[in-house]
Amino acid sequence: MVASLQQAGYEAYIVGGSVRDLLLGERPKDFDVATDATPEEVKAVFPRCRLIGRRFRLAHVRMRGALLEVATFRGQGGQAPGHQDDDGRMLRDNVWGSVEEDAVRRDFTINALFMDPVNGEIRDYVGGFRDLQQRSLRLIGDPEIRYREDPVRLLRAARFAAKLGVTLEPATAAPMAAVAPRLEQIPPARLFEEVCKLFLTGHAGRTVDALQQFGLMRYLFPVLPAGDDVGVAHLHPVVQRATESTDRRIAEGKSVTPAFLIAAVLWEPLLERIAPLEAAGMPAYQAMEEAADALLAEQLQRTAIPRRFSAVTRQIWLNQLRLKRTRGARALTVMSQPRFRAAYDFLLIRALDEPELQELADFWTQAQQERPDLVETAAPTKRRRRRRGGRGRGRKRPEGVNPGTDT
Ligand code: ATP
Ligand code: MG
Repeated sequence: MVASLQQAGYEAYIVGGSVRDLLLGERPKDFDVATDATPEEVKAVFPRCRLIGRRFRLAHVRMRGALLEVATFRGQGGQAPGHQDDDGRMLRDNVWGSVEEDAVRRDFTINALFMDPVNGEIRDYVGGFRDLQQRSLRLIGDPEIRYREDPVRLLRAARFAAKLGVTLEPATAAPMAAVAPRLEQIPPARLFEEVCKLFLTGHAGRTVDALQQFGLMRYLFPVLPAGDDVGVAHLHPVVQRATESTDRRIAEGKSVTPAFLIAAVLWEPLLERIAPLEAAGMPAYQAMEEAADALLAEQLQRTAIPRRFSAVTRQIWLNQLRLKRTRGARALTVMSQPRFRAAYDFLLIRALDEPELQELADFWTQAQQERPDLVETAAPTKRRRRRRGGRGRGRKRPEGVNPGTDT
């Protein structure tokens, strides 16, 4: 791929996270290519590629099943006058540039290495190779300016610290607290995308620790009760249990859904909101429904959780009440409810810190062994399998199917 571009007379390199991961001896999950060929020129070399993106066009090239993202070197456009808002946030970043310019507009030095896969040469304009060897995470340029340009870099710092075990170099760590409130201005859809990247890539536990350490957690989840410091949240033990279980499932190659982690993260504020409603005499199920709706609506303003996930989160919560009923002829029918398994898993992690729930958890463990025919997952029809969503992304759901109505 890179060779084809080079043979056509262009400069082309593998770049970004893929080079970083290769040098760390890990298998990159995707490959990004940077080139001096414009998207049209890339298209001329690979007629079957797709050009995507309006503002900043990229070429998607399929190669032996893998998807390569080919981007033209970007220049300093982001720093030019008129390309930032009053807070210094970058609005535009769409000017072609040279390979050096493309390096310095990237975020961290370890993400700005260029590798020529044909001759194995590494191009390093920012000292990223040394930082990678020293496991040091360093923003390129003036850290405060770079965080202001794009506050999501704060979250990326936490993600890389957790995922790669790198340490933030002091100047990169210093301005974090001052810039963190600017996360409030990031579009909620982008923040939700980041939440998924933070929590579903196999290091959710360490990521939560990093978010807490850097005082970012409450900017992502403002509905959480405040902890000891600004940006730090008080976390219910179920959060750690859920991150452990998610990380374990990813390590085992099982599917994961952000809905489960969201259910755990928001569990404590949910309980806090249920209490006064119940105290006022509202039945438990109704109180939970009302509290859940209000809580999710508030959280959605920060992170745009798509309905296909928030509906599952809600079902996991409401099923906690259904799982309390173990007597009566219809009790076992809860096992055929959608999300029974997720709700059962949630009960299991709650029981780890609330021993009084263990008996209930054991009841449902046994019930599933005795009546596997009743369990939602025991005989998945094609449709059910799809609903559960591979990798938890739920993309395959046919349009118009509303997961909120199948309880
Ligand atoms: P991962 O392995 O998680 O995909 P990554 O480093 O590849 O990590 P991507 O989001 O895929 O992260 O971005 C690819 C590259 O684009 C990064 O390595 C970095 O060079 C650049 N980049 C991404 N986001 C930003 C940003 N907000 N600011 C500057 N550069 C960025
Ligand atoms: Mg990447």
